[in-house]
Amino acid sequence: MAKEELECSFCGRKKPETNLLIAGLDAHICDRCITQANGIVIEESKQGDNAELSAELMLKKPKEIKAFLDEYIIGQEHTKRVMSVAVYNHYKRLLQPPSDDDIEIQKSNIIMVGQTGTGKTLMAKTVARMLNVPLAIVDATVLTEAGYVGEDVESILTRLLQAADYNLEKAERGIVFIDEIDKIARKSDNPSITRDVSGEGVQQALLKLLEGTVVNVPPKGGRKHPDQKFIEVNTEHILFIAGGAFDGIERVITKRLNMQAIGYSSINSDDNVDNDNILQYIIPKDLKDFGLIPEIIGRLPVLTHMDPLDAKTLRAILTEPKNAIVKQYKKLFEMDDVNLSITDGALEFIVDKAIEYKLGARGLRSLCEEILTDAMFHLPGSDETKLNVTKAYAEEKLTKSTLKKLKAVS
Ligand code: ADP
Repeated sequence: MAKEELECSFCGRKKPETNLLIAGLDAHICDRCITQANGIVIEESKQGDNAELSAELMLKKPKEIKAFLDEYIIGQEHTKRVMSVAVYNHYKRLLQPPSDDDIEIQKSNIIMVGQTGTGKTLMAKTVARMLNVPLAIVDATVLTEAGYVGEDVESILTRLLQAADYNLEKAERGIVFIDEIDKIARKSDNPSITRDVSGEGVQQALLKLLEGTVVNVPPKGGRKHPDQKFIEVNTEHILFIAGGAFDGIERVITKRLNMQAIGYSSINSDDNVDNDNILQYIIPKDLKDFGLIPEIIGRLPVLTHMDPLDAKTLRAILTEPKNAIVKQYKKLFEMDDVNLSITDGALEFIVDKAIEYKLGARGLRSLCEEILTDAMFHLPGSDETKLNVTKAYAEEKLTKSTLKKLKAVS
C-alpha cells in the first residue's frame, strides 16, 4: 500500500487528515480516535468505581470503621465510636433498597464540638478516605445568604462536585465537612460574634441542604460564570459533618450543670464533674443557648465532643499515627539516604514547647519543621548518613524568637 493511502482503521480518516496516525499490527489509529477512546476508558473506570464503592461500603461494620480511625487518630475515643456508628448508619440507609413500610431512616448528620487543632478535620478526612468518597471542606464563615457578598451555600456542593471530579453519582454519596459552624451562631446570644450579615440567615439557608433536597448547582461556582449550565445535585445521601470550637460554650454547660445540681440530686454534682473537660457534658440545648437555631440542631442529630489534647496525646501524635509527623520526616531524609532518629528527650521537648506556647497539635509540625530545616538544607548531597536529634539539638534550633513567631502565626 502506498504511504498516502494509509487511513485510521476506526474512523477511516486518511493520513493527511490526521495529526498523527499510529500503526498497530494490522491496523492504524488516529489522534482523534485515541482521545475519544481515552474518554471512554475514563468513563468506564468511573462506573467501575461506583460499583466498587457500593461493595466496599457494605463491608465496613462500626468496629472496622473505628479500627481504621484508630490508625490515623490518637485518642478521641468517644467521637471515634459515635462517628463509626453514625457513618455506618448513614451508608446503611443509603444502600437500603426502598421498602414499603413507613419507617424512614433519617440522616445521621454529625456535629463535633472541640477546640481547634483537636482533630475534627482529620476525623472527617479519615472517614472519607476510608470510604473512598469525595470530601468537601468548607468554612462556614465564608458563607452568606444569597444576595450578600460571599459564597452562597450552594457553593458547598460545587466544591463537592469538584472533589468528585464532576462524577455526580459519587458527589451525591460524598461527605461535606462544614468547619467553624459556631461562627454562624445568632449574634444576640453570642457576644463574641462581630459579623453583621446575620448568621441566622446562613443557618436557614443550610437547613434544606442538610435535610436532603435537590439543588441547582453552578458547576464552576460563583456568579462569575453566569452562562454555565446548572447541575442538579440531590443532597439526600450526602453526609454532613459540622465542626466548631464554640468558644465560651463551657460557661453555658457549667451554668446548666450547676442549675441541675441545685434542682435535683443530679449525677453531675460538683464532685464528679471533670472541670478539665467540660465539653464532654454537652447536650443539644447548649448549642441552642449558644446561638444555633433549633432546626439546625435537629438536622445535625449526632452531637459529639473532642477531648482536649494533653501531653501524652501530643507525644503520641508525633510518632504513632500511620502517617505521623516524625514518620514523614524520616521518609524525607531516607530519600537522601540519611537515617533520622529523634530521642525521647527531644520529642518531650517538642511537646513541652507546643503546650507552653499553646500551639496545639497543629504546632507540632511547625516545631519539627523549624528544628529540621537546617539539616534538610545541608544534608542532601553531603556525606552524612545519620542525623540524631537530641534535646540539646532541638533547643539550639528553637530559639525564643522562633517560638514567638510560631505562636503569632498559629
Ligand atoms: P481541627 O479541625 O479540630 O481544628 P485538625 O483536624 O485540622 O483540627 O488537626 C490539625 C492537625 O493536628 C492534624 O492535621 C493532625 O496532624 C493533628 N492532630 C490533631 N488531633 C489529632 C489526633 N487526635 N490524632 C492525630 N493527629 C491529630
